[in-house]
Amino acid sequence: MKRRCSISEDMDLKGLIMKAAEFHGHLGPFLVLGIRAGLIGLRELAPEKFRQMHVTVKLNPSVPFSCFIDGIQVTTKCTVGNGLLRLESSREGISARFEIHSSQRVLTITVRSKVLKYLMEMFSKGASNERLAWEIASLPEEKLFTKENGG
Ligand SMILES: [Zn+2]
Repeated sequence: MKRRCSISEDMDLKGLIMKAAEFHGHLGPFLVLGIRAGLIGLRELAPEKFRQMHVTVKLNPSVPFSCFIDGIQVTTKCTVGNGLLRLESSREGISARFEIHSSQRVLTITVRSKVLKYLMEMFSKGASNERLAWEIASLPEEKLFTKENGG
């Protein structure tokens, strides 16, 4: 059984989003996708200490897609600077692969292509970054991502 998001987790999410937006310089939906993917990685792999987990992010390395990276960095503390985050360039799609060093546990979280398409469509219609960010924050995670053990 999957645990449902509780109210306190939602409040934590809001706080995290504000913190990440301050770090990142602005608030947008790809930043929130990174935050939510990072939270799933932490929840499912449950690293016990810093440096136990590392992440590989695969995406098109340009804005707005790359905003995802900072969401991952703020939540997981796996960053380019500390060597725990590796970036791989990809023509399309966004995924994050979480790994625990000491075990064989690997989880790959991929943003649903439907979500990417929707966001690009909304951007082209002039929807604001903030509005889309809070919309992504409010959707159930099953609607945003697919999850795969290994990958
Ligand atoms: Zn951004």
